[in-house]
Amino acid sequence: MKAKIAILPGDGVGPEIVAEAVKVLEAVARRFGHDFEMTEHPVGGAAYDRCGDCLPETTLAACKAADAVLLGAVGGPKWDALAPEKRPERRALLTLRSELGLFANLRPAKVWDPLKTASPLKDEIVARGIDLLIVRELTGGAYFGKKGRGEGGKSAYDMIPYAEHEILRVARVAFEAARCRHGRAVAPRPPKVTSVDKANVLETSRLWRETVSALHAAEYADVALEHLYVDNAAMQLVRDPARFDVILTENMFGDILSDEASQITGSIGMLPSASLGASGAGLYEPIHGSAPDITGKGIANPIATILSAAMLLRHALGLSGEADAIEQAVADVLAQGLRTPDIAAPGGVQTVSTSELGDAIEAALIKK
Ligand code: NAD
Repeated sequence: MKAKIAILPGDGVGPEIVAEAVKVLEAVARRFGHDFEMTEHPVGGAAYDRCGDCLPETTLAACKAADAVLLGAVGGPKWDALAPEKRPERRALLTLRSELGLFANLRPAKVWDPLKTASPLKDEIVARGIDLLIVRELTGGAYFGKKGRGEGGKSAYDMIPYAEHEILRVARVAFEAARCRHGRAVAPRPPKVTSVDKANVLETSRLWRETVSALHAAEYADVALEHLYVDNAAMQLVRDPARFDVILTENMFGDILSDEASQITGSIGMLPSASLGASGAGLYEPIHGSAPDITGKGIANPIATILSAAMLLRHALGLSGEADAIEQAVADVLAQGLRTPDIAAPGGVQTVSTSELGDAIEAALIKK
């Protein structure tokens, strides 16, 4: 397959971890006979320093022309004093999301067998297996609804608007993802979507529930569907995370639940994400930021970015076998005991650098 991948290393540890993901994508291309045209483009503070804009026109055009975009991270103390609309997080990330029409954010949260002790949950809970995917609606709800102040600033409101078509398109992503995970035998049981809302209180949640149920009945009867209130979902995530396969939810609930889910896995350096739109390039990036405290030390964990590259292959290019191969290579290297400092633990592990871990994953991938 021929594919154009826009590579946006960004700031802080971004260039260090993206270099390892590119190494792994090149290894995939060699092993499976693909032709990936990967071109690097400036973004974030690095782009601001170069041309006064955290998202130069040329970078945006390259992302729109690409089949997928792989991003490292943006931001850092050097650019914190910029005006809010010029800052890397707002100008680069929010503009990319809206310009690429990205309405669904996918965040898998998984506890890898060799890293079970990194989870803050009790052993008996972790032993039941934690491997779930949160699908969060990204462009609607309270964050984008009408907001304002009244009574001379002494009262305030935020609307939570949702239209049926916005719910349908993200629900479809969740049901398709559940089927796809089942096909890969990742989920230990039949595919299941848990739709999270607050339908006992909110009218938008009642529309959400009706719409998801109708879509399920019409097109996805092979996938199990349950509805949970968000307060219960937050509790179940720490009480019994093994009960979840795919969690589907609206923007604000997803923001909160996805951070909770990331914490139960133990390390932010392990967690990838994908943001998808109706068509065109999706955006794939680790969930962590630019980690200024460890930049340049060669100790950042590249696995979140490497797993983001695996998501890119699966979701943007339809290369599930290749994505599985990357995930298996990561599992093999963790089983060998290789760790960056953030996931190192006493006993039987060898602490390695960012590039050494990337090399080991590349080697495990090629060896197959
Ligand atoms: P952060 O995620 O960068 O770092 C939080 C902690 O996790 C730090 O101790 C860091 O060393 C550690 N960490 C992060 N990634 C790691 C990795 N791959 N390996 C090992 N340890 C890792 O969050 P922060 O410190 O709050 O933010 C730093 C900058 O990143 C800020 O400017 C923030 O706005 C920006 N940010 C960007 C994004 C993005 O680009 N999507 C997301 C979040 C934060």
